[in-house]
Amino acid sequence: MSEIPRALLYDELTNIVGRENVIEEREEGIAHSLNRNWFTRTLWSENRQVPLPSFVVYPESTEQVSDVLQIANREKIPVTPFGMGSSGMGGNVPVDGGIIVDTKKMDELIKVNEESLSATIQTGIGSWEYEESLNDLGYTSGHLPASQFCSTYGGFLALRSAGRLSTGYGKIEDMVLGIEVALPNGEIVRTRPVPAHASGPDLNQLFIGSEGAFGIITQATMKIHPYPEERRFRAIIFPDFSSGLQAVRKIMRKDVTPSVARLYTEEETARTFKDTWGVEKEGSYLIIGFDGVEELVEQKEKIALRICEKENGEDLGSEKGEYWWENRYGDYYPKDRSDTEKWQSLLGGYQAAGTVTTCVPYDKAEVAYKEMRRSFKEKFEGRYKNWIHAHFSHWYKTGTMFYVRWYIREIPEEEDTLDVYNEAWSTLVPIALKHEGVVDHHHGIGRLLGRFLSKQDKGGHEVLRSIKKAIDPNNIMNPGVLGLGKC
Ligand SMILES: Cc1cc2nc3c(=O)[nH]c(=O)nc-3n(C[C@H](O)[C@H](O)[C@H](O)COP(=O)(O)OP(=O)(O)OC[C@H]3O[C@@H](n4cnc5c(N)ncnc54)[C@H](O)[C@@H]3O)c2cc1C
Repeated sequence: MSEIPRALLYDELTNIVGRENVIEEREEGIAHSLNRNWFTRTLWSENRQVPLPSFVVYPESTEQVSDVLQIANREKIPVTPFGMGSSGMGGNVPVDGGIIVDTKKMDELIKVNEESLSATIQTGIGSWEYEESLNDLGYTSGHLPASQFCSTYGGFLALRSAGRLSTGYGKIEDMVLGIEVALPNGEIVRTRPVPAHASGPDLNQLFIGSEGAFGIITQATMKIHPYPEERRFRAIIFPDFSSGLQAVRKIMRKDVTPSVARLYTEEETARTFKDTWGVEKEGSYLIIGFDGVEELVEQKEKIALRICEKENGEDLGSEKGEYWWENRYGDYYPKDRSDTEKWQSLLGGYQAAGTVTTCVPYDKAEVAYKEMRRSFKEKFEGRYKNWIHAHFSHWYKTGTMFYVRWYIREIPEEEDTLDVYNEAWSTLVPIALKHEGVVDHHHGIGRLLGRFLSKQDKGGHEVLRSIKKAIDPNNIMNPGVLGLGKC
């Protein structure tokens, strides 16, 4: 942006949010551009150019967001909504420059309605701060993702996030009652926070998962739950993941819904539990947990254990299950950082790494994962040092989600790491689609996976494109996310 329009824009923005809330320093732009994004971090580490915004703006109210958007729309300046930057899918990167609207100062817990079990929040509220406030009052959000300490509710809603207890409490889209959104032209939409309606299509769900392409979600009314009377976890080991898969599928069919079930493939069991936690047994590890009234928890656990036993699962007891719960964030935020080598390898010892989260019907789960693993190995084994493994961690009556982690090391200097990274995604995602799976289950599409989205739902991408054109004819809102490109 040249100097004169830049100075004029600065003046208008500071009139809305105050001088202290418009930041134009390059360092601020770099911090927002790098965030948790593999692409920009790699560019940075290779001394290549990272995309930078002209301004980072910190509004404090819906009205301020609306005013900023009106100006951006008038001047046709791209806007990137930003929470805490923990998404790695690239939707938070200001690829076209323009304005970043950072919601962190919109962090108020506005109201808790104890009688109707709901809480109204500004969407810049941090996940952990919100959960702690609810816990103090005897409630829980039920949404406890591993990014608990580095995400906002705006980010969760924009990407259809899932927490560790999603099998019991649902994903974020199941937890929303009502939302408030500032549209690209500055108009404000506010839906009613009711449990259900038949007043036409569900507008909440139009904006949830829209990744900032349809507007900025400024407030939300979320369901809350009384803090569970009883919370239990247990560890089981199966001879292979196939028997574990059948066990959890059968548990779900009986409506004995656990709060969490995490089934690790043999490879991930070996890597996570043997190497890190010293569990010597081989096979497929399952962590299963139950929340609720004590008598119900007791009964559900009994039924689940019976089903696991029938599928050759060996009960390793509650201690190992509780240990998992207590250390559930350990991978990301190790308490002991004195082992520098391990800490470094967890954080970034890999040249390329990613996670495919997909969701498939039960009859496709095993075959889809096995094909992904086989194809990845065929492509990269012998070329680079690599790992691929998975866990199944969000369960439904009709299907399951699996989380495929892959890592690549020792890419020779003459090769472009970005090409290798893209090749890995292009190897894995089409296999999920081939087996009736989705491009993503809870990390979103961002810019990284947009190229696959038109292959998911027949005709669906065209509908999305039409909605985008209608809501945002100037294409200012996060252009390029969801594979929408230049609409
Ligand atoms: C260590 C770690 C663990 C993780 N674990 C999980 C997990 O367990 N479950 C899970 O679901 N995800 C997980 N993630 C991914 C990430 O935390 C989530 O995707 C989260 O939803 C991002 O929130 P954020 O506030 O950081 O959003 P950002 O990264 O800032 O933004 C993400 C996207 O949302 C848009 N956006 C942000 N705020 C708004 C708003 N108010 N209105 C409209 N659009 C908006 C942005 O433009 C961008 O496209 C993890 C990430 C990390 C780094």
